[in-house]
Amino acid sequence: MQRGPPRIVSSWGNVARGEHRVYGFSSRFEDFPDISGGCTVLPFGNGRSYGDSCLNVGGALLETRTLDRFIRFDADQGTLSCEAGVQLADILSVVVPAGWFPCVLPGTQYVTVGGAIANDVHGKNHHRAGTFGCHVTRFELLRPDGERMSCSAEETPDWFAATIGGLGLTGVVTWAQMRLRRVAGPWLDVESIRCADLDELLELSIESAKDFEYTVAWVDCLARGRRLGRGILQRANHADGAASAPRPAGGTGFAVPFAPPVSLVNSATLRLFNAAHYHRRRLRTRTVQHFQRFFFPLDGIRHWNRLYGPRGFHQYQCVIPGSGAGEAARSLLGAVAAAGEGSFLAILKCFGDRASPGLLSFPQSGITLALDFPNRGAPLAALFGRLDAIVAQSGGRLYPAKDARMPGDLFRAGYPRHGEFLRFTNPRCSSSFWRRVMADA
Ligand SMILES: Cc1cc2nc3c(=O)[nH]c(=O)nc-3n(C[C@H](O)[C@H](O)[C@H](O)COP(=O)(O)OP(=O)(O)OC[C@H]3O[C@@H](n4cnc5c(N)ncnc54)[C@H](O)[C@@H]3O)c2cc1C
Repeated sequence: MQRGPPRIVSSWGNVARGEHRVYGFSSRFEDFPDISGGCTVLPFGNGRSYGDSCLNVGGALLETRTLDRFIRFDADQGTLSCEAGVQLADILSVVVPAGWFPCVLPGTQYVTVGGAIANDVHGKNHHRAGTFGCHVTRFELLRPDGERMSCSAEETPDWFAATIGGLGLTGVVTWAQMRLRRVAGPWLDVESIRCADLDELLELSIESAKDFEYTVAWVDCLARGRRLGRGILQRANHADGAASAPRPAGGTGFAVPFAPPVSLVNSATLRLFNAAHYHRRRLRTRTVQHFQRFFFPLDGIRHWNRLYGPRGFHQYQCVIPGSGAGEAARSLLGAVAAAGEGSFLAILKCFGDRASPGLLSFPQSGITLALDFPNRGAPLAALFGRLDAIVAQSGGRLYPAKDARMPGDLFRAGYPRHGEFLRFTNPRCSSSFWRRVMADA
């Protein structure tokens, strides 16, 4: 196992960072590193988690990106086995030309298979497909005690459920096997519909889930009063093979070269962006889009996270279950609009009722809201306190992959199976997130 010099590692939101000893695999057959001095270890994928769940400040990170080999792609059956450091972008480049597609894709393709499993990520088709873990059939887990386990839902249901959504705390996934789904080509039929308020947006989201595989809504989180929750709903299905449109040239070619000294995302730029984005759309449009444009609109701008300046940004993503979800979403958006905070990235989605396989998986049937905020210190912390109270009161929870600050009691109330999960952890594996949310348990 190779060890590099101590390094400052930061996650995607740039609000959590710190020094780590960094180790790297040179092969998936290597042993778990034997690190002296009681130092804890955490697997690290591509650092696309926003907060501190992919960090282990003061301890070691075990980089997995070098585990980047494909093992087997069965283009007749639609199954793929690959090492855990392979990124979804690499998988897409191999399977789409052969008429296959991953069953679940998050909003960036630059995540590793190991990271997608450890956060049990979701996509715009949760109401149909559930989470990423629902389509993983087997993986190998290298545990901190040195044991290698071949895990599947049939043979090792407990370790399977603990590791999917297990935040890297059960050990390192070295390779995984997953099912793919058939597609005729890379194109999607996409409809965008402007909605005047939250009621209209929610009604259309629920109705669209019946006939559309993918649904997602952008919300103007600065709109207030009777316009509260206005936004644009996108719904899409895979197009048949005959469809075509201009193919995106692998992103815009635009990159943010360095973090500007102050955040370029502030209430003035936001107000302009949100009003322009909302009114730019006609009431209803239909287009054929390449999957890259539909699924990964932000991947076109490299290092877009730097736009928030050196203080970084937080994402607040919650899910509210049950029949009170609409009212809770109204309260959350009302609190954000009243505070004048928010960003151009405010996403609402209805999760379906397919059960997530992990003990700590985030998705559950209900409404999820994801909102980005420039890190403005105390005023933002006060707003988060108000949002937390709404989430707690509605029986909801926050997404660890996006979090750098949730209080421990909110985590433990939202994830009632955390006690059961503890049986599968090992004192040699830890993360900054885990120590934070379990410190006062
Ligand atoms: C622009 C953007 C859009 C996003 N959209 C979505 C979305 O739509 N839905 C969604 O669910 N998420 C979304 N995310 C979050 C992202 O999908 C997750 O944070 C994902 O887990 C990141 O994967 P990674 O490879 O970067 O892993 P990291 O962020 O490096 O690590 C994530 C977790 O995985 C663990 N881990 C990594 N590799 C392994 C391994 N081999 N074995 C065991 N544990 C491992 C780490 O310890 C850590 O706990 C988005 C992120 C960005 C930046």
